[in-house]
Amino acid sequence: MISLKNQIVVITGASSGIGSACARVFAGAGAKLILVARRLDRLQQLADELSKEFSIETYLLQLDVSDRHAVESSIISLPPAWSAIDILINNAGLSRGLDKLHEGDWQNWEEMIDTNIKGLLYLTRYIVPGMVTRGRGHVVNLGSIAGHQTYPGGNVYCATKAAVKAISEGLKQDLLGTPIRVTSVDPGMVETEFSEVRFHGDRERAKKVYQGVQPLTPEDVADVIFFCTTRSPHVNINEVILMPVDQA
Ligand code: NDP
Repeated sequence: MISLKNQIVVITGASSGIGSACARVFAGAGAKLILVARRLDRLQQLADELSKEFSIETYLLQLDVSDRHAVESSIISLPPAWSAIDILINNAGLSRGLDKLHEGDWQNWEEMIDTNIKGLLYLTRYIVPGMVTRGRGHVVNLGSIAGHQTYPGGNVYCATKAAVKAISEGLKQDLLGTPIRVTSVDPGMVETEFSEVRFHGDRERAKKVYQGVQPLTPEDVADVIFFCTTRSPHVNINEVILMPVDQA
């Protein structure tokens, strides 16, 4: 197991759910965290908690990952003490709609594609070159079981996660010959704010989908990400699918 002490870890979507849980696990291991999301108040609250509990340093980036110029300038203008990024966790993502494709809302499609695919691409594009130059690094992409199997109304969200799977595999190929590692972590249902967002506050619909399933916790997923990033440097865990026991 390798030590994460003082490693610089970027976590997108750190203001809730899986991203916040990752921040806690990596903080506990002594990493230095760059926390990314649009809701700065949430990031500030998390950073305050982490610095009190673990005495670690954090750097907050209020950023919309789907804004390419903002991503580029934020990464370029990181202070020197924060620029040598060791681990990138591309976690920011969302689901909108759940409508039949032929009745769907193009604004929902664009938001999912812009965040889940383009946002992940932009962060990767601006951070990985530094990893290659320094000869070390690890990219962890949050895919989903939705990238492997579709469900009714999941059309575009599933497509974005299938894209994440392809991008992770492609990036791994592109980085062959370097020590940079690439992992796709693909969970089934996780109990986060995502589930409420997914149903636009339609609790009845959400309840039906989750019926009979004890969802994963964000900590379950963070635990797997931590495992993947702490293996010996010659070990690359390409893909992990983790599911609730009772989810088909
Ligand atoms: P949450 O809704 O709890 O968290 C999503 C995070 O993404 C928030 O921190 C949000 O921050 C951030 N985010 C969304 N859009 C943007 C944006 N444009 N720019 C920057 N940050 C953004 O959901 P989860 O923790 O569950 O989701 C994390 C990842 O896990 C997602 O990629 C999701 O697809 C994936 N996943 C989730 C599953 C689940 O069942 N929950 C199952 C499988 C995969 P803010 O709004 O402050 O910007």
